[in-house]
Amino acid sequence: MLLILHPNTSESDPDFIKTLAHLKQLPDVKVRQHQVSGQLQNLREIYLLGDTLALDLEEIESLPAVEKVIRISEEYRILGRHKDQQRSSGFHYQGLRFDQESLHIFAGLCAVDNPKHVEEMLKALQANGLSCTRMGAYKPRTNPYAFQGHGKSCLPWVFDLAGKYGTKVIAMEVTHESHMQEIDQALADAGNPCGVIMQIGTRNTQNFELLKAIGRQNTYPALLKRGFGITLNESLNAAEYLASEGNNQVIFCLRGMKSEFGAPHRNMVDFAQVPTVKRLTRMPVCIDPSHSVGSRDVAPDGVLELCHATAQGVLAGANMVLVDFHPAPEKALVDGPQALTINELEPFLKDMEIARKAYLERVAVWQNV
Ligand code: PEP
Ligand code: MN
Repeated sequence: MLLILHPNTSESDPDFIKTLAHLKQLPDVKVRQHQVSGQLQNLREIYLLGDTLALDLEEIESLPAVEKVIRISEEYRILGRHKDQQRSSGFHYQGLRFDQESLHIFAGLCAVDNPKHVEEMLKALQANGLSCTRMGAYKPRTNPYAFQGHGKSCLPWVFDLAGKYGTKVIAMEVTHESHMQEIDQALADAGNPCGVIMQIGTRNTQNFELLKAIGRQNTYPALLKRGFGITLNESLNAAEYLASEGNNQVIFCLRGMKSEFGAPHRNMVDFAQVPTVKRLTRMPVCIDPSHSVGSRDVAPDGVLELCHATAQGVLAGANMVLVDFHPAPEKALVDGPQALTINELEPFLKDMEIARKAYLERVAVWQNV
């Protein structure tokens, strides 16, 4: 059962104290609190878990701090919509709003290689008005002998460069809980020049201990990639692990499914499910066209297939795009063949602008039906 409290209810409110005291004495019911930071107000939510079927809805609704009570289903308890289209979604981070209405482009290197390439990339992003990027320092590789990423040794200069070029947020994959601590330390040492979103890769979607560790903190939001060989439901449940531990700043990323039927694409592109994830949950939805399409192949119309796929995701309402770029793809240590080049950044952004405008126009058409 979900209890939405009156806006801006604080912990010291007598009404809140009275309400909490009543809830805590309910038999076989666990009380879990969540803070939701909205644009105009802060909302406090309380989840009652356990034997809630016997509870009287009206009685709970009459508690002084309670505005609204929603019975929630078993699945996606915290991140789910539960048939309530009005529930707010998303969060603020580094002065940016991440929700199901916004759109942020995270263009950058699949893997950090050297300061020159990172600087060229960040400089180009700044010149094009972008303040988010992707930078892989810890790379989960299929082959144990392949480059595994520079790890914590590159963090000081990556963060310094981020500060120099006004980068606000970096999406960075972590494959172990200790990486989060390394990032935390390096950010503090650099004077916190930017923020980091903890990316959980497709190979770790169901690494529950990693999810729980990232879920136990609230400093960094999480970007969870869909598992490439499990159902959508299983991946959404994995996202719920993050929230169940207390971190509901979660972005869900579609990145394609492993299947021979997707060939010649690297993965079967799954961006038709952008609206599905938005319907089932309140998470902002990201698309990763680079790891789904996986090549620089160009369609007969002159547009890269990767850009066509990105536009399809944006047209369907995607809220974030995670895309590989590299100043010199032939020199990239990871995934060079799918990286766009710096001179493709401007047309890429123009293309996305057109797709985004078309998406908003499409929504307007259907709103009056
Ligand atoms: C990545 O984004 O660098 C990556 C490895 O993606 P995925 O986990 O989707 O394969
Ligand atoms: Mn990659």
